[in-house]
Amino acid sequence: MAIVVDRELCPHDHSCPLIDLCPVEAISQGADGYPTVDAERCIECQQCVAACPMRAMKQV
Ligand code: SF4
Repeated sequence: MAIVVDRELCPHDHSCPLIDLCPVEAISQGADGYPTVDAERCIECQQCVAACPMRAMKQV
């Protein structure tokens, strides 16, 4: 299992609010504007899945 960003739902045009929400600092944002999740850090708490206003974070 992993948390991934659905690029069809993320508008990648704003500072991702989930970066500050993640308790283990697993989310970062690249130059293309898409957030990415560091699978080594992520504990799959799903806080970002619940909080993303675009429902773009998914557990797969
Ligand atoms: S599931 Fe939790 S630990 Fe993983 S990226 Fe989202 S907020 Fe961070």
